[in-house]
Amino acid sequence: EDDAALLGEFYGEEFEQVERKPAPVLAIIGRPNVGKSTLVNRILGRREAVVEDVPGVTRDRVMYPAEWNGKRFTLVDTGGWEHDAKGIHASVAAQAEVAVEFSDAVLFVVDTTVGATSTDELVMKMLRKAKKPVILVANKVDDFVQEAEAAALWGLGFGEPWPVSAVHGRGVADLLDHAMKVLPEFSAVDATERSGGPRRIALIGRPNVGKSSLLNKLAGAERVVVNELAGTTRDPVDEFIELGGETWKFIDTAGIRRRQHMAHGSEYYASLRTQAALERSEVAVILLAVDETLSEQDVRIIQLAIESGRAMVLAFNKWDLLDEDRRRYLEREIEQDLAHVEWAPRVNISAKTGWHKDKLVPALDLALENWDRRIPTGKLNAFLGELVAAHPHPVRGGKQPRILFATQASSRPPKFVLFTTGFLDPGYRRFITRRLRETFDFRGTPIEVSMRVRE
Ligand code: GDP
Ligand code: GDP
Repeated sequence: EDDAALLGEFYGEEFEQVERKPAPVLAIIGRPNVGKSTLVNRILGRREAVVEDVPGVTRDRVMYPAEWNGKRFTLVDTGGWEHDAKGIHASVAAQAEVAVEFSDAVLFVVDTTVGATSTDELVMKMLRKAKKPVILVANKVDDFVQEAEAAALWGLGFGEPWPVSAVHGRGVADLLDHAMKVLPEFSAVDATERSGGPRRIALIGRPNVGKSSLLNKLAGAERVVVNELAGTTRDPVDEFIELGGETWKFIDTAGIRRRQHMAHGSEYYASLRTQAALERSEVAVILLAVDETLSEQDVRIIQLAIESGRAMVLAFNKWDLLDEDRRRYLEREIEQDLAHVEWAPRVNISAKTGWHKDKLVPALDLALENWDRRIPTGKLNAFLGELVAAHPHPVRGGKQPRILFATQASSRPPKFVLFTTGFLDPGYRRFITRRLRETFDFRGTPIEVSMRVRE
């Protein structure tokens, strides 16, 4: 766009198109109580209150976008999962798996006031097998006196321990400087092809909604799900499946098929898998089971998908089990609890019988087409000009913010920037977003409308 390019010159890098290559992933692991959550909060710049350990509370999010000295990375927080782990060894094993599967480098946190325990040694052994770069963090070094104790951790065999105090922030900047050197520029665990290849789908949903059944139906053959043991090769992680004359890449089918492989921290695991799969996909098919009430977990998964900015299709599965009563109730649920995603195409299917499985591809195509959509700047501004003329922003305290200009800064998903003379009311922004959706076809994609206020 010529005028977008002009604006780019005028407003600087705000308009630079950044290719979305996956940021490198840094995982924080360690025994309970060594200070992982405190360190995560310190790195993310969150308030201490978030650390609060409420038993039974599972965190939805385990991967966080983070930045240090201008370098973007993804932080994987393993601090929240010990609650549902029965034994420390299970938890340790699971963390080692995270280190292997989902990260490019690992911060291994040890409590300096306690020293290296036998559990720490076990973690260390597993990490060594993982062959990922490991940075040994000697936490709770609140003052200079404790630094001597940190030095004792050299014995773990990961080289120099980095003394930090997650609580006070001491040493954290140095640690992060070092971590940024260790992390690759882009994630290697997340080798997402940019374009040209088959489109990438993530099948997500809570346990038992029918993900593996659907996968089997789509792949055309029932497969035996073998209960894989730790250490067995489980490649390939993804699978190519032909649907509607096109080849699609299904992300992390190994994760879908490997059911309940780990009872401990399984909710944490499910969430991590979901986020990692979303990260690597272009479109998410969210499965919901119609024979059961929509659960909080379903809603959380939908939220993760929205936040990931991926195209989205809702698949209502187990339609064969739907009776009249449940059907009426389902309609109410959709109206009440899924109103915020009424833009997502809905398909009703039965993974068991294969009923309507051919409805999936048209919905996916629609969602992806809109996810890719670019509205020419001229057309966008003509639309906004008319809209604003007919429905001006309300006057607030004698002032009336005006929209000077708008442009679509990026697609996948579509993001719009409005240049205004003052802050727009949230309600007015929602109104514009809604009208954008109505006027241009954005079914199946989240869209974002932001403002740049120029006084
Ligand atoms: P996690 O279980 O590994 O996530 O550990 P938490 O972050 O919940 O911390 C466990 C306890 O150690 C909490 O009481 C923290 O306040 C405390 N803690 C964490 N980091 C430090 C630190 O750097 N110094 C001191 N003295 N205490 C810390
Ligand atoms: P996943 O945990 O999401 O992978 O779910 P599964 O594919 O393992 O399915 C969980 C259970 O639901 C299994 O017993 C399936 O046979 C059953 N199931 C899956 N899809 C359907 C469906 O469309 N109709 C019916 N009646 N049962 C289904």
